Amino acid sequence: MSSTAKMAGFQIPSGKMLIDGKWCEAASGKYFDTYNPATGEVLGKVAEGAEQDIDRAVRAARKAFEEGPWPQMSATERGKLLYKLAEAIREHGEELARIETLNCGKPISDARNIDVALVADCFEYYAGWANKIHGETVPVSGPFFNYTLREPVGVIGQIVAWNFPMLLAAWKLAPALATGNTVVLKPAEQTPLTALRLGELCLEAGFPPGVVNVVPGFGQTAGAALVAHRDVDKIAFTGEYITGQIIMREAAGTLKRLSLELGGKSPNIVFSDADVDAAVAGSMAGIFWNQGEVCCAGSRLFLQESIHDQFVEKLVAQTKKMKVGDPLQPDTQVGALVSSDHFNKVMSYIKAGKEEGAKLLTGGDQPIKPGYFVSPTVFDGVRDDMKIAREEIFGPVLSVIRFRDVDEVVSRANNTFYGLAAAVWTRDVAKAHTLARKLKAGTVWVNTYNVISSMSPFGGYKMSGFGRELGMHALELYTQVKSVWVNMAS
Ligand code: NAD
Ligand code: MN
Repeated sequence: MSSTAKMAGFQIPSGKMLIDGKWCEAASGKYFDTYNPATGEVLGKVAEGAEQDIDRAVRAARKAFEEGPWPQMSATERGKLLYKLAEAIREHGEELARIETLNCGKPISDARNIDVALVADCFEYYAGWANKIHGETVPVSGPFFNYTLREPVGVIGQIVAWNFPMLLAAWKLAPALATGNTVVLKPAEQTPLTALRLGELCLEAGFPPGVVNVVPGFGQTAGAALVAHRDVDKIAFTGEYITGQIIMREAAGTLKRLSLELGGKSPNIVFSDADVDAAVAGSMAGIFWNQGEVCCAGSRLFLQESIHDQFVEKLVAQTKKMKVGDPLQPDTQVGALVSSDHFNKVMSYIKAGKEEGAKLLTGGDQPIKPGYFVSPTVFDGVRDDMKIAREEIFGPVLSVIRFRDVDEVVSRANNTFYGLAAAVWTRDVAKAHTLARKLKAGTVWVNTYNVISSMSPFGGYKMSGFGRELGMHALELYTQVKSVWVNMAS
């Protein structure tokens, strides 16, 4: 590309955005800095996209959708491009992992083994779908031949969060491209780098100009312009429920299709008949993975009374052993939070927990400076009405809550406006499946936590959003059905 910044031995896109297959500056000429949250240092300058840039990108996406090679391409050819992209991601895996870690603070071992691996897998999975999507013939009455066509929706605006910058982009790009749409992607302002690099890899893989456009910028300018744009057919959004509410209101003006992946306050329920050691390890992974910056994090740990004390003892002992530190070190388990704003938000929840009378068992501090590190934190004695039990903290902060029996825990677990995920730990098969039905959440894990696959749908109940990403369900987000009637009467 024409302008790059050298960083940690790797080239990262800098100061440009990707529109119509070309790298260009913002119309305003503005830039914003992007940071390494583990040090607070500036990593580079990023083009600051706004209304005019979004308009340019949408026009390029519209043109690419209506004309040129993309709509002519067969489904099999689209699939091949996606396979090629998956391969390119694996080839550049180390570079992508390092950029991701430097920009968002997550441990490098996760960036390599989870983020990059899942991103490549996601493109490969939807590559396989590209030529397996088709309509039906319908046995209607009368002298008619009726069939359906499953067509792309058109120009898709995709707006994502910063906690899995590249993975969230992949969840959105892969099914949209497999089904023949064109895309304008707006990465989170905190973490624009891997999305830009992914855009570059799309170009190299051979996606025609305008099919994938990447416009970094802020939510209230670039994001809002994308949502309001008359020529965008659909918005796919991942972020906070409050932003989801704004987007839903703003999208009403043009009645855009909308899918929303929002936050959570997911219950993780451990019964006394569970394998306690497995549940301790799973609960820690459930809340401390990715510094707790996980939409489906198991932030409310419900422990059945009889195992509470031994469980908490093990949990705290093991939590204290977690390795917090330099995200680039391969043995780091907990990296830095994404920004100083987010660090302050998480610390303010820790303060609120203490003020409301929850018992801080471990953590609650900033173990390393500089950088936005927070020690894995466990609060015991949390009541359902406390702020730390109700609101999404999006950090490494666990609220331990006691319960007595099944019915009670189901109603307390469901007593939240969120509904993204839930987990149950028990050796009783009937209890596990009964709870899987009763818990109001888009994902329920039994005797595990945070397992995700490209093949299985992911999304929210209630105010955690609507629409399902991943699996075959995401194909519905990016296609629309046309009914065609042919008069057969002679
Ligand atoms: P956010 O809502 O602050 O921002 C998300 C994106 O929306 C960013 O790109 C931002 O620039 C943009 N945006 C902000 N205001 C906008 C506006 N008015 N119009 C259009 N776009 C706008 O979310 P965040 O802080 O980046 O991410 C954290 C949240 O994301 C958490 O609530 C988390 O649970 C959620 N999340 C959900 C999932 C899921 O799959 N359900 C996955 C990851 C994160
Ligand atoms: Mn936010």
